[in-house]
Amino acid sequence: MTKLNARKAAVIGCGFVGATVAYTLMQTELFSELVLVDVNKGKAEGEALDLIHGLPFAHPMQIYAGDYNDIADAAVVVMTAGANQKPGGETRLELVKRNAAIMYSISKELKKVECQGTMIVVANPVDILTYIAIKHAGFKEGKVIGSGTNLDTARFKTLLGEALDVDPRSVHGYIIGEHGDSEVAVYSSANVSGVNVDEFAKIRGIDNFEEMKDGIAYETKAVAYEIIDKKRATYYAIAMSVKRIVTAICHDEKSVLPVSYMMNGEYGINDICMSLPTVLGQDGVLARIPISLNEKENQALHHSADVLKEILQDALTDLY
Ligand code: NAD
Repeated sequence: MTKLNARKAAVIGCGFVGATVAYTLMQTELFSELVLVDVNKGKAEGEALDLIHGLPFAHPMQIYAGDYNDIADAAVVVMTAGANQKPGGETRLELVKRNAAIMYSISKELKKVECQGTMIVVANPVDILTYIAIKHAGFKEGKVIGSGTNLDTARFKTLLGEALDVDPRSVHGYIIGEHGDSEVAVYSSANVSGVNVDEFAKIRGIDNFEEMKDGIAYETKAVAYEIIDKKRATYYAIAMSVKRIVTAICHDEKSVLPVSYMMNGEYGINDICMSLPTVLGQDGVLARIPISLNEKENQALHHSADVLKEILQDALTDLY
């Protein structure tokens, strides 16, 4: 079995998202080796060359196009391979059949080489693909996670920050459940420096915050469709989201981030992947945090689980 190389990362899929993730990780100084894998080898080679020419402005490292044998010892494997949503409103879940088959075939390759690191699944529908990877890629328990609602939570914080006229980094709150249309904005515990957002809005003299809340939650999920319609894909914010997750793992930070992982009885939900706040460290998932929900949020989370369960069943039936 290959020994883990803590300074090595791999990116599978070198499209908009994979290339931007590679560019972002290259600048972290976390890694001295970065492997790019794509079914289109030329694309991986081209991206590697382009990144290499930035090294004199960064730090010495090896960046190259490789294959699955090259990533067995990578500390982090970021999986972005798959088709993107089509402009015109294709949902993440409609992508499921195409991308489930890709995830399954890549999982079999990863299993063969016995990967030692942690995989972060980014390709959509991320909750479904994370489930397939956990079951078939052969990683140790806790070491396959989906980027989940870490990005949606950033969008939520950004919009709340704008509405409340405060730095989004001072806003604490979560989007949980599916990374997609059924995701749940947890307003009941959203706060700024420990003060609930409703109270904080009053302090800031914002009278119509109650009416704004549904709009903010809607915009949090709808904005991805707007970006895709305008520029075909989203990639900068997701790359920064991945960088945050990777840093938490590589530095063994034990940070709490909302990522997708197997539900194991939290809120009575089982055998499906969805996002909850999760303690992340070098062993991957260290703990899941079932935060308090009000009745409406609890119902919405169960609806999200039902949506995902149905899609997962379809995806798995076609897969085997
Ligand atoms: P893209 O089409 O630009 O790139 C996909 C890449 O995957 C291509 O280079 C393609 O050659 C490669 N690929 C396809 N099949 C492969 C295989 N079997 N093995 C290796 N490589 C393969 O798409 P994109 O815009 O980069 O998006 C990639 C995925 O990320 C999509 O599923 C998209 O929906 C998802 N995404 C997720 C989030 C999130 O928050 N989770 C955000 C943005 C995009």
